[in-house]
Amino acid sequence: MSGLLEGRRAIVTGAAQGIGLAIGAALADHGARVVLADLDGNRAEASAEAIGRGAIGVGCDVTDESEVNRLVDRAVDELGGLDLFVNNAGITRDASLKKMSVADFDAVITVHLRGTWLGLRAASAVMREAKSGSIVNLSSMSGKVGNPGQTNYSAAKAGVVGMTKAAAKELAHHGVRVNAVQPGLIRTPMTAAMTPEAFATTEATIPMRRAGEPGEVAGAVVFLASHLSSYMTGAVLEVAGGRGM
Ligand code: NAP
Repeated sequence: MSGLLEGRRAIVTGAAQGIGLAIGAALADHGARVVLADLDGNRAEASAEAIGRGAIGVGCDVTDESEVNRLVDRAVDELGGLDLFVNNAGITRDASLKKMSVADFDAVITVHLRGTWLGLRAASAVMREAKSGSIVNLSSMSGKVGNPGQTNYSAAKAGVVGMTKAAAKELAHHGVRVNAVQPGLIRTPMTAAMTPEAFATTEATIPMRRAGEPGEVAGAVVFLASHLSSYMTGAVLEVAGGRGM
């Protein structure tokens, strides 16, 4: 592949599987040194080994302040700096309003909002010193259009957009760009939890008439990570086959 990201140093959270793993692989394909972080350090290490090219796997719960700070410190120590940070870790706890518990609500809000905020804060502290960097946050079309059964997740993913824009405005004059990606229905372990009927019903509403692959989200992230998007900050890219446009 190209050397579009040659010499860049990157962290991707929630990267042991799914979209995060595809993003890690795509960044490495384009020349970046990548740290893959996930809740389970052993799975993160196995994924890093599978990617090769010097990728490193690290255990990190994105909801834990000290673990996120340690993750960034370790990347800086081992790679000599930090140019790219992808806030990808995520969970769903879907239920109707009638059935959703406060624990389901809090868990989703905490992983997506506190998790993204902790990553953003720790990564931007390093990048603003270097006067350069790109941060990409994973939102979702659910945060744009709202999905029934996802009042927690839709709120969290809309919140990620607000956070992205606020941080973009704070950091632009320090040379740090912050953008977001809103995937639609993507084939990953997260959506494998849907019933085949629910998956097919959603798929039928997509203008391109198919779900997306993790690598198709990774392509947008590579673009936002690279100099090809050098005049973009606070942007939200939809990667959804035309759904919810
Ligand atoms: P996935 O297959 O479930 O992978 C998410 C990864 O994040 C898992 O390895 C998970 O670990 C990890 N994770 C969960 N909580 C974490 C925490 N507190 N700290 C660190 N890692 C944590 O999900 P995906 O489909 O690839 O989704 C990736 C991102 O894209 C998420 O932000 C998701 O909301 C977003 N997204 C996905 C879709 C879609 O259709 N798939 C659409 C729009 C947006 P465990 O497996 O151990 O929980």
